[in-house]
Amino acid sequence: MTYAKLIRISLLFALSVLALFIFFISGSPDWIEKNYASAFFPRLASVLRFLFGWMPFSLGDILYSIVTISILWQIGKFFVRLFHKTDSWAKKLSPLLTAGLILLFVYVYFYMFWGLNYYRKGIEHQLALQNSTFDKQQLIELNRALLIKLNATKEICLQKKDTVMSSDRMFHSSVEGYRELEKKFSFIRYRNVSLKPSLFGRIGNYVGFQGYYNPFTGEAQINTHIPNFVQPFVTSHEMAHQIGYASESEANFVGFLAATHSPDTLLQYSAYLDIFLYSIGNLRAVDSVASKEIGKQLHEGVKRDIRTERAFAMKHRTFLQNWTDAFYDFYLRQNRQRKGIESYNEVTGWLIAYWKKYESSP
Ligand SMILES: [Zn+2]
Repeated sequence: MTYAKLIRISLLFALSVLALFIFFISGSPDWIEKNYASAFFPRLASVLRFLFGWMPFSLGDILYSIVTISILWQIGKFFVRLFHKTDSWAKKLSPLLTAGLILLFVYVYFYMFWGLNYYRKGIEHQLALQNSTFDKQQLIELNRALLIKLNATKEICLQKKDTVMSSDRMFHSSVEGYRELEKKFSFIRYRNVSLKPSLFGRIGNYVGFQGYYNPFTGEAQINTHIPNFVQPFVTSHEMAHQIGYASESEANFVGFLAATHSPDTLLQYSAYLDIFLYSIGNLRAVDSVASKEIGKQLHEGVKRDIRTERAFAMKHRTFLQNWTDAFYDFYLRQNRQRKGIESYNEVTGWLIAYWKKYESSP
């Protein structure tokens, strides 16, 4: 057996053992919450942010590009060898094995270094929230409370003529929000900033992403080509992913709490707008008259922003987004986010429970 072959077989064996470990451990949320999500992961992610956060560009985006190209390269090699009559089958198939090894490595790395957070008990457990049921009246009250905050923050921003945020300010304010939130809940701890504009921003508009976390480098990428008032909340949302809230609803909820604890009104506005749109959507589903009534009371400036966001989405709507939506939906379901993309809406229930418990409103 050649040396290279031995390495490949040992690698395959080690990765398979780790993949099995992931499979079995994912069924133990208590163990994961205690040992992984609250101990191993936060330290690891903090080290990654320390190592790569200072780089002005997204290293993760470059790594993603390299991995994609390597896999395509190996697949290409396989097809070329397929038509080489002199090559043995072992030689023909070896690029596929290499591609498979790369994919298995990516899979194992992804779950060990972040993905296990999908199986934790999470924020609902940490804040001891009861998210089981809420009635229509509570939903109406939540929408009213968000409406008041939304209109008030918009008015303040307009009066200060403060409507556009630079990436630097966005990142700084979001970090400040997390610092404030940590004073209340010490387990929400964000150290070593690693926030970057995405290198794929313009492509991202057509594929349909606003931001993403890279588990391989601990960086959070923000799509800086989407409407400016959307970006600050995307930043807070991605930071929640960075500290171990993998599910979308958890990232929305933690991101919202952090953003609304920041003293920066424009960041607060961005968060209120995003969460308001979810909660009014929930209300529309059960009481369209009440949701219309609340919608009418929106500040003109807010209505303008909603129109801008819709026009932007319409302009960039392509068949690609249907594919990414379908893929992401599948991905979330695979990771126990049973409701798929709709799991974003869980946040409404948490917010009702949270306000009742910690802020006694609505
Ligand atoms: Zn997310």
